[in-house]
Amino acid sequence: MAANNHHPKDEAYLSSVIPKRIRLFEEIQAEQLEQLQSRPHDPIKITLLPDGIVKEGKRWETTPMDIAVQISKGLAKSALVSSVDHVLWDMNRPLEGDCSLEIFGFDSDQGRDTFWHSSAHILGQALEQQYGCKLCIGPCKTTDEGFYYDAFYYGNLGLNDDHFPNIEAGVAKAVRERQPFERIQVTKDQALEMFSDNKFKVEIVNDDLAEEESITVYRCGSLVDLCPGPHIPNTSFVKAFKCLKASASYWRGKSDRESLQRVYGISYPDNKQLKDYLKSIEEAKKYDHRLLGKQQDLFFCHEFSPGSWFFHEHGAIVMSPNMFNMKLWETSGHAQNYKKNMFTLDVRVHAKLNSLLDFVTSIDEQEFGLKPMNCPGHCLVFQDKVRSYKELPIRIADFGVLHRNEESGALSGMTRVRRFVQDDAHIFCKVDQVGEEVKGVLDFIDYVYKIFGFTYELKLSTRPEKKYIGDLETWDKAEKDLEKALDNFGKPWVINKGDGAFYGPKIDITVSDAMKRKFQCATLQLDFQLPARFKLDYITEKNEKERPVMIHRAVLGSVERMFAILLEHYKGIWPFWLSPRQAIVCSLSEDYSSYAKQVQKQIHEARYYVDIDESDRSICKKVADARAAPYNYILVVGHKEATTGQVTVRLREDPAGRKDLPEMSIDSLLDEFKFKTVNFL
Ligand SMILES: [Zn+2]
Ligand SMILES: [Zn+2]
Repeated sequence: MAANNHHPKDEAYLSSVIPKRIRLFEEIQAEQLEQLQSRPHDPIKITLLPDGIVKEGKRWETTPMDIAVQISKGLAKSALVSSVDHVLWDMNRPLEGDCSLEIFGFDSDQGRDTFWHSSAHILGQALEQQYGCKLCIGPCKTTDEGFYYDAFYYGNLGLNDDHFPNIEAGVAKAVRERQPFERIQVTKDQALEMFSDNKFKVEIVNDDLAEEESITVYRCGSLVDLCPGPHIPNTSFVKAFKCLKASASYWRGKSDRESLQRVYGISYPDNKQLKDYLKSIEEAKKYDHRLLGKQQDLFFCHEFSPGSWFFHEHGAIVMSPNMFNMKLWETSGHAQNYKKNMFTLDVRVHAKLNSLLDFVTSIDEQEFGLKPMNCPGHCLVFQDKVRSYKELPIRIADFGVLHRNEESGALSGMTRVRRFVQDDAHIFCKVDQVGEEVKGVLDFIDYVYKIFGFTYELKLSTRPEKKYIGDLETWDKAEKDLEKALDNFGKPWVINKGDGAFYGPKIDITVSDAMKRKFQCATLQLDFQLPARFKLDYITEKNEKERPVMIHRAVLGSVERMFAILLEHYKGIWPFWLSPRQAIVCSLSEDYSSYAKQVQKQIHEARYYVDIDESDRSICKKVADARAAPYNYILVVGHKEATTGQVTVRLREDPAGRKDLPEMSIDSLLDEFKFKTVNFL
């Protein structure tokens, strides 16, 4: 069969290397055969496992295959490998003394592994013969069914499904020739000479094989390969063979080394088993989570972030990848306007995707950026399907992790950080929905801030002087829309000229905490640019394509920053509903431990945070420590409480100025907890 036209085989390599390897192999083989024959062939006893039957044989002459033939023709036909004194052994390798012998067929792990391992040699032979590839690491068995071989080809072979018939033809030829697997032992120098034309094998001999270790070399047909063995008797056992996939790999798995071609294959002793296997993988494909996920509209993957998945907006929030190809940031404008604030990294990506997303045909290093914002990723979510006006507004919320490369001098506790989570959302809506959506966001912000006891001011930040994208007309319209929405909201607001984002105007919300300090947390930004840059559209009632408007919104802003603000705002005393230490049970002494545990369990099951102090310290010390921690409720239990099923409540000084409460039943305590929680107290 002719080699693929685009990938001529390296005839020069083949015509010089193959005859040389065979000549060296045959010379050493003849020498070793002579040695073998000169050794005494005295009788030995071979104990067959597992039955314990003893067979007679001759040292340095009788092979496991001879014994298999004695037992039955059927066994000889199916025997793939043996173990001699529990060491795996070629069927054709002479026995060396009295020993135990076990014979394995394809129905055993040992037989199957040897079969697939040997098939990889045949695959290697075909890669060498059909393309003149230099064989690298291999042959290898995969962790499940099958095997692979890594090969190097000058230039980029880009092996793919189209090459499989040619490779399979090479395998078929080797199988027809019933090539025996023959074994010799060589010195390190002999191995280096034999493989001198293949730098990969030379590297293996030099780096991986110790000086004193005996090196074995096997031959099947034209292929002479380094291998510890053992193998099946000959290539004709491999009646059914198929290439499964091709991908790119690196020599030694290192990206700075040569790029290699990896071909995966599967083989069986008969066609029926191969058919069954292929059918079972077809079947498995039908239930592939990628396919089901797509059908059920649960998640998707985009070429800008291979290996990271997006969760669609079913359920509460979406999840989007953390890093994206810089191509995404070029589209969004971040590469041009925001790159100095981004962490970038080089990522190996598939230069060419095969039918299934994770099959790689060649690999490139490309620049990626950790996301500083969720917006562009959410544009991909919107873009992933055809959207109808009926779906709008689509509100995509994502508590994604963001990274921004702040100057190290600018870092400050949790308020100025490099890694943070935003309670981020993007609303995609029609132009005539903007007013209502902006009002909705303002109401939401108002609702949340009232709970925290924040007051806030509203500012409209308009187009920046220099760094902005898009045309003036669009900017003016966006600014007008926000002005209108602010007026409708009915609270006072001011203009903050030139402080908008580069992609659109925004409403800044400045909160004041209990100490009258001002912070900017929430944002509400209108964006006509990103939908245009990502060419987003939806189908209108008239079946036309229309561009949606995008609203960026965050209520807490950076969760880290809000946490810091709240901690200071509450002066370290969390309200009960938000407290990380809501209650603690302190027992007067060890005698009331079991009652204390019972109280803790009851509160825990009502889903409140509760600790227990069972130490043998005085109750005064326990209460003082719990106040310092601080816990909102300190529940003291002793004899009286254990008898009446109550707790005595000591409060951390609370805003109402209450100190201690009278004894309470657990039920009334839980009622109080519930009241505080639902009222955000
Ligand atoms: Zn091998
Ligand atoms: Zn955004």
